[in-house]
Amino acid sequence: MVSSSVLGFPRIGGNREIKKAVEAYWGGKISAEDLTKAAFDVRKTSWSTVKAKGVDFVPSGEFSLYDHVLDHSAAFNVIPSRYTGHNLSPLDVYFAMGRGRQADGVDVPASEMKKWFDSNYHFVVPEFSDATDFKLLFNKALEEYKEAKEAGVTTRPVVLGPVSFLVLGKPSKSAKPGFEPISLLPKLLPVYKTLLADLKAAGVEWVQIDEPILVLDKASTFEQAYATAYAELAPVAPKILLATYFGRLDSNLGFVSKLPVAGLHIDLDRAPGQLDDVIAALKPTNVVLSLGLVSGRNIWKTDFEAAIKLAQKAIDALGQDRVIIATSSSLLHTPVTLESEKKLTAEQKDWFSFALEKAAEVATIAAVLSGSQDASVKAALEANKVSIAKRRAFEQNSDDSVRKRVAAITPDMFERASPFAVRQAVQAKHLNLPKFPTTTIGSFPQTKEIRQARAKLGKGEITQDEYDEFIKKEIETVVRFQEKVGLDLLVHGEPERNDMVQYFGEQLNGFVFTQNAWVQSYGSRYVRPPIIVSDVSRSGPMTVRWSSYAQSLTKRPMKGMLTGPVTILNWSFPRADVSRELQSKQLALALRDEVVDLEKAGISAIQVDEPAIREGLPLRRADWDGYLKWAVDSFKLSTAGVTDQLQTHSHFCYSDFDDIFPSIQRLDADVISIEASKSDMKLLTTFKQYGYSNQIGPGVYDIHSPRVPSEQEIKDRVADMLAILPDSLLFINPDCGLKTRGWKETEAALINVVAAARWARQTY
Ligand code: GLN
Ligand code: ZN
Repeated sequence: MVSSSVLGFPRIGGNREIKKAVEAYWGGKISAEDLTKAAFDVRKTSWSTVKAKGVDFVPSGEFSLYDHVLDHSAAFNVIPSRYTGHNLSPLDVYFAMGRGRQADGVDVPASEMKKWFDSNYHFVVPEFSDATDFKLLFNKALEEYKEAKEAGVTTRPVVLGPVSFLVLGKPSKSAKPGFEPISLLPKLLPVYKTLLADLKAAGVEWVQIDEPILVLDKASTFEQAYATAYAELAPVAPKILLATYFGRLDSNLGFVSKLPVAGLHIDLDRAPGQLDDVIAALKPTNVVLSLGLVSGRNIWKTDFEAAIKLAQKAIDALGQDRVIIATSSSLLHTPVTLESEKKLTAEQKDWFSFALEKAAEVATIAAVLSGSQDASVKAALEANKVSIAKRRAFEQNSDDSVRKRVAAITPDMFERASPFAVRQAVQAKHLNLPKFPTTTIGSFPQTKEIRQARAKLGKGEITQDEYDEFIKKEIETVVRFQEKVGLDLLVHGEPERNDMVQYFGEQLNGFVFTQNAWVQSYGSRYVRPPIIVSDVSRSGPMTVRWSSYAQSLTKRPMKGMLTGPVTILNWSFPRADVSRELQSKQLALALRDEVVDLEKAGISAIQVDEPAIREGLPLRRADWDGYLKWAVDSFKLSTAGVTDQLQTHSHFCYSDFDDIFPSIQRLDADVISIEASKSDMKLLTTFKQYGYSNQIGPGVYDIHSPRVPSEQEIKDRVADMLAILPDSLLFINPDCGLKTRGWKETEAALINVVAAARWARQTY
């Protein structure tokens, strides 16, 4: 028999119960017991609904109130000393690590968060040093296994693997120079042994140990660590299913296939090409192969026929009993269930499959492969065939004119008419900005009033006209404020935007929106990514009226504000039938039209934000060049349709550019603003080393905190910057948009920014 499995389920609850409960707990509105109860209810529903779909291996232990890596750190006593000694309960220590705590005399910042591989989920980075004292404070895997069992579901516990746990972490501030977390492996393994032996003693048959690090280039340097770890763990543990996901094993397969584990899971959604090699490597062993055929990263229905064909290869080589049909990764990155969507058309609904539907998919595929003659299985297979055929037909005819337009792109469309030096002179005359111009990154505080107005419009409590009037007033307030404070290059403040991607998605052809398709981004922050379902085009101007209205209010230049093609793509659920490159180029052409229209409407500077270019970088270095080529080309395509006098800007939130610098240069934006306020001046030194010659606005202060920087601090930063950069290239601005800030600190900070710029003009 072929069995089926799910590697992990969304833990937010079908109606965002966990967000609500966790935030109520933080706000002192419910007790720790209430929170525990809410969490149990969500877990119980997940186990029973997944099981009801017919899944053989139901996961447990992957649930989290905040983040699963944080759970692991807290359970293993990897708790930085700044969080201890405050007399907090373990639960409050846990939340303090995740989000900081500022109450009752305790004032500790949150731990660092990092992106979970190439997903939009963020994990809390563990901090290690020689002083780390691993202890099993809590066996979460065991507790939740027992809970599930009592609730009538036998589960396969999920545990983050020891090598990935260490490698995902970082040396703590107090660690000795040169300290590597992996050096702690010998100290860590005894704790894992206890954890796993306890599972075995409780009757657990299989445990899923996640080692996603294995799909990265750097995994090869941990070959010995893996060998040691699994040689020690396997004898005391239940049967181990070693789970890899988000990419391919490649050369790491050589040592992975020798590890003493009972099962190996591979991602065939991201890396179907690895199947033959993995089958060949496992054939002489009796290791079970778990095939990640149902995507844990997208929302599309699985093509059963294609999946069955791949799986059949594994069955032919290994036999039915050694094959599991699984989700490619945890379903954490997908919304809970399609059942909650009441507004999608029947045609659209038929294209998708969310977490619960994916659970049914693995079960059906496994049943078909096991030769089930069950009528409902046959019907599901037939229905899938019909859905997939309909979707394919839709894809073919989606929008021919858009595809023709992409095919007709010529190389000159990526380049501005003149080189930067020529443009800079033309723009200087046209914009007439002072030396060291001051500007902001786009958004101003998104106040409660703004959100309320949007909610009222959504509920029909105010008319579109009333809403538009409200937005105009907001824009006017922001313009007058900037004039008063003395900023040079103004923005309209983005009050009309619910979100920098959704706002554009809603106006472009080719997207659909859901009502309830939330996925966790970090902690209690969930996002609802738009879905790209067909060829993307612009049906008309999207921002022109707001930008020109803003410009009409002032003599100072107004900066138009758009989200770039790569960022829109990365923060949406993309299509699976065409490449990301094609989708990005289609978006770029739509934005190109908008940029041209903005210039025609009298706007003389336009910012196209691309914070996601860096984060979209593939996991394997061998794939970088291909990605960077089309990503940078897309940005250029969207911005190069204008005359020399139009000043293009771009903004990046993460300033980790060292390894992709030539691509930043190739963007050829007239001005880029970057987050530099947190990092030292190293970044600017890199710009200098590479001879970067366009203009730069390194953030002069950190907007992610309500703290107001003093005038002197900003002056010092500007001075540091001018020690590295030529005078003619420097813009002065905060390091990101101000939407999460309050007005009070925004005003105080910007007054100091302008004062520092005035000082610099006199001093340099
Ligand atoms: N223009 C956007 C803003 O100011 C940029 C946000 C971002 O880069 N994340 O909000
Ligand atoms: Zn930013």
